[in-house]
Amino acid sequence: MVSTTLPLSHRFAQRLPGFSVPCEPMQVASPTLLQFNAQLAEELGLGIDPNDEVQLSRIFTGQELLPGSCPVAQAYAGHQFGGFVPQLGDGRALLLGEAVDRDGQYRDIALKGSGPTPFSRGGDGKAAIGPVLREYVVSEAMYALGIPTTRALAAVGTGETVMRTRSLPGAMLTRVAASHLRVGSFEYAAARRRTDQVRELADFAIERHYADVVGEENRYLELLQAIADRQAKLIAQWMSVGFVHGVMNTDNMTISGETIDYGPCAFMEAYDPAAVFSSIDSMGRYAFSNQPQIARWNLARLAETLLSLIDPEEPQRAAEAATEIITEFESRHNTLYQTNMREKLGLDADSEYDSEDQRLLHDWLGLLQSNQVDYTLAFRSLADAADENTATTLSLFPSGEVEPWLEQWRNRLEKQPISDVASRLRASNPLYIPRNHLVEEALDAASEHGDLKPFKRLLQVLDSPFQEQPESESFATPAPRDFTACYKTFCGT
Ligand code: AMP
Ligand code: MG
Repeated sequence: MVSTTLPLSHRFAQRLPGFSVPCEPMQVASPTLLQFNAQLAEELGLGIDPNDEVQLSRIFTGQELLPGSCPVAQAYAGHQFGGFVPQLGDGRALLLGEAVDRDGQYRDIALKGSGPTPFSRGGDGKAAIGPVLREYVVSEAMYALGIPTTRALAAVGTGETVMRTRSLPGAMLTRVAASHLRVGSFEYAAARRRTDQVRELADFAIERHYADVVGEENRYLELLQAIADRQAKLIAQWMSVGFVHGVMNTDNMTISGETIDYGPCAFMEAYDPAAVFSSIDSMGRYAFSNQPQIARWNLARLAETLLSLIDPEEPQRAAEAATEIITEFESRHNTLYQTNMREKLGLDADSEYDSEDQRLLHDWLGLLQSNQVDYTLAFRSLADAADENTATTLSLFPSGEVEPWLEQWRNRLEKQPISDVASRLRASNPLYIPRNHLVEEALDAASEHGDLKPFKRLLQVLDSPFQEQPESESFATPAPRDFTACYKTFCGT
């Protein structure tokens, strides 16, 4: 056993026995540490020696267990691309237990790619190095961007090969989450008509994530409202950085409001509301601009599971109250989105200019789209423009069409008292995002040549996305057009 500050607890497994089954991680041939997040380990109070790579690689493949570990595979259901699957569950993941972090918050520690479980449904329960490193780098990039997300604690090569379209090096990811409760967890119990379990789950979720709701008259309705609010905030943040999740099935939507499951995700480069990268999303269900609508649809599925708790006597009344929350989601999201986008344009949230600012944003996005301009660089260039240097912005719009817009934007800026718009813009518009071609290059080097240098360098740059870094220009540059035109991502299997 490893010595840590505190043993892991396993409240989820203990309190909600209907939602998991005990399961051991598979044995692996020769675990090798690929990456370890020492800062996060410290935050979690895991008293692990960050220099002992042998031990780290054994712990984070489950060969050696952290004290208090009680590995379980979680059960959940889910709507996948709109169709309901009553039982999905952790087919390649295990929850080891919960750590209490420096702030006193419970955090799930889970392995992904840890071998078959009773929920594997014919899958091998394993993960290849590429998807493991993708989740590592993209989730950590999201964290650095200030977006709620699960975190990556470790990536370890298993020394085995996994069979996909060809054989690939195997790996495991250790994921840290506020919890792994999902909309699909509620659907799992509701589909079995286990109102008692839905209630237990809701009470657990309230205790873990929404303590404010405890004293409320209708705590389950308030829970729904609170989850909807966090999701509205989350999706508005995705939209402001051009993140396309790619597979927003209800089993991939958390109750905590964290982004989870970085499978076929990607960052949009040239602005395109219809951007889709996932190889399996041929209908564009999870396209960039559909994400708020899909979140709302998923929340409606969650609401359905809660109706009998919201008003056990009068289902109609429960349905009306829940519908109101779901209906309001669009305007809540939109308000948050407008706030974020105003911030990205350096504009003060002043209601006097609401319609003017909406028009400015609309026109700006229209220009980005018609000129196929990189979303990230376009916003970032406005910091220079605010410093009276429009060359950066103009160079992104060779047509010159952007000039009248810049004029209107500057006129609007003059109407507000804030002086240091440029530095504010640099603080709200990242320079570095996980560029798809760089992510692919890094994954490819690791997977094909065992070379982790590009991955580690990318991780380092993305750790400070708002800060211009010397010798890192290439990390801010979009992919060549032909790369993006045929860029497809695959589910992290
Ligand atoms: P995801 O697309 O990652 O959200 O996964 C959807 C479902 O497929 C979950 O129940 C996963 O546990 C399961 N799954 C994905 N890959 C595998 C695999 N290699 N082996 C077993 N189950 C898997
Ligand atoms: Mg999933």
